[in-house]
Amino acid sequence: MADLASHHYRPPHQPLSGSRSPPSKGPKLPKNFSTPLTCYYWYNGTCSKDAAECIYAHHYAGLVAEPPVKIGSAGVGVAGPDAAKAVGDALELRKALHEKEQKLREREDVVKKREERVKEVAGELKEWERRINKDSDRVRKREDDFLDRETDLFERERDLRGREREFERRMR
Ligand SMILES: [Zn+2]
Repeated sequence: MADLASHHYRPPHQPLSGSRSPPSKGPKLPKNFSTPLTCYYWYNGTCSKDAAECIYAHHYAGLVAEPPVKIGSAGVGVAGPDAAKAVGDALELRKALHEKEQKLREREDVVKKREERVKEVAGELKEWERRINKDSDRVRKREDDFLDRETDLFERERDLRGREREFERRMR
């Protein structure tokens, strides 16, 4: 240590610096803000951590932390570094949702195209039906015509047989 190498006098009762101080690196803890953020749980008398452990102040300086953010359907409360992770997770979730949405939109387009195709086919089927009905009407009409002609023929045959009988009768 630099202190050991130096010749500066240090009173023996002065505690060694750095041995028990909180981590100086990383983000400033809420309890060390210029206006310390008071622990939401401590303020409500329910913090399970002691003042040294908690990243929030266990004394009131004018500001109380917001209630922890509820993430997910489980409703797990998170704050501090956990909240940052949760926010990260939420962003990941949003990204995943966005991608899902995009995929859904693509599938929607495919479904729309299939719907249009079905409509087209339905239209073609209708046209077919119309033609078949027209054809069957024509066939029915021909059948009727044929029946008329058959009836006509039958009557003519009967008439002919009558004339034949009349002829035979005269020849006797
Ligand atoms: Zn606390």
